[in-house]
Amino acid sequence: MIKGALARPHPAPEKPLLHQPARFMSTHINVLDMARQQLATAAKYLDLDEGLHQVLAHPIRQLVVHFPVVMDNGEVQVFQGQRVQHNSSRGPTKGGIRYHPDVDLDETTALAMWMTWKCAVVNIPYGGAKGSVKVDTKMLSKRELEKLTRRFISDIGIIVGERSDIPAPDVGTNAQTMAWIMDTISMQKGYTVPGVVTGKPIELGGSEGRVEATGRGVVVSAGEACNSLGMSLAGAQVVVQGFGNVGSVAAELIENEGATVIAVSDAQGGIYNPKGLPVKELCKKYAGREGGIREFKDAEKLSNADLLELKCDILIPAALSAQITGDNAKKIKAKLIVEGANGPCTPEADQYLSDKGVMIVPDVLANAGGVVVSYFEWVQDLQNFFWAEEEVNQKLTRIMKHSFAAVENTMRSHKTDMRTAAYIIGVKRVADATIRRGIYP
Ligand code: NAD
Repeated sequence: MIKGALARPHPAPEKPLLHQPARFMSTHINVLDMARQQLATAAKYLDLDEGLHQVLAHPIRQLVVHFPVVMDNGEVQVFQGQRVQHNSSRGPTKGGIRYHPDVDLDETTALAMWMTWKCAVVNIPYGGAKGSVKVDTKMLSKRELEKLTRRFISDIGIIVGERSDIPAPDVGTNAQTMAWIMDTISMQKGYTVPGVVTGKPIELGGSEGRVEATGRGVVVSAGEACNSLGMSLAGAQVVVQGFGNVGSVAAELIENEGATVIAVSDAQGGIYNPKGLPVKELCKKYAGREGGIREFKDAEKLSNADLLELKCDILIPAALSAQITGDNAKKIKAKLIVEGANGPCTPEADQYLSDKGVMIVPDVLANAGGVVVSYFEWVQDLQNFFWAEEEVNQKLTRIMKHSFAAVENTMRSHKTDMRTAAYIIGVKRVADATIRRGIYP
């Protein structure tokens, strides 16, 4: 029970949230509403004080910027970006930067909130943040992308820093983006600040193992979940939605464990071969190239919607949020879902699938490998002392297994699903830290 320590007369439970998101509907899913529903479920289990619940349901800071970029043709285009810091009770805020045409402030806030719980579930000393720019990177040249990145980070630079808020890659950004961010902040400071951002290239203070970390964590989680269900990873049939950093690495590493990857997809759609796909070849010769993975001939083409509904043992959604919803949950045939993406299952889908006995390893646990190795990178940068890849992978695997076991134990002791169990752990750690610190002044 978490009560009293913030004791003040608190508002009635029905008090509207400061920023009231759209109602949850299958047709338009507001992911901030979804994130707050998930928090509310955990709050009930923890008997969370309503005032504290309100603190955790809101971000501490949202900075929205509109910034100009001079395009290659000389025209000026204005872009919208945002950086949201959700909670800093347990340490500096941490979270990726996403470039995508559909991002908005609500989604960025939900993603920041999920980062807070994720860092707490794996017990690393960070709060959650997220940044985003509404942009279709396919429409920009490399030079335009660099200028956009440098201007965006300059504009949000007033709240970013190696001791305050540390960005990392997410959808549409990569190690090169992080290098530009590090260089921009360093130019402004007058000295090199590697610890201001993680997911950098190795030669600029990046960590060994960071590129693979999220996918590796997903596969460790899948292995632990298989053990728990009495299934074997070797021989399992796996479907992966999204073939970017997380999806392609997860597909490659799970294949190394003896599983058969039967379908993968990117934004354009998917490919399917029930006998298995050659993941390494897809990564090397097709991913990220003109035409993408759908150029691979020895497979049937299918839509992203159909891919999710394929018969398989393990489904790894590793693209965007709200992919498995009340509308398609009934058609999902996987026995185990391991969430590589953030927020791929809506609460409606969660409820239906867990009632049906499908195990869902939630995002705040399954994809935490990325932020764990980002934490290692930050520690290495602050100390100027770098670790071997083997050491990074060993430490990552230990944290993932330990966190999985803690979530599983909580799930069993509270007789609930894995997401709620992970939230019980994560939200409790953040709530405890908030109570310990007290409310300033
Ligand atoms: P990425 O940009 O490297 O890859 C995204 C992939 O998803 C691409 O293959 C893209 O084509 C595909 N995609 C885009 N829209 C799609 C759609 N509508 N349907 C199907 N596929 C689509 O991004 P990433 O870093 O791999 O991130 C993927 C997910 O994992 C995101 O939800 C992200 O928040 C989450 N995540 C990433 C990290 C990380 O370390 N990169 C860590 C934790 C969580």
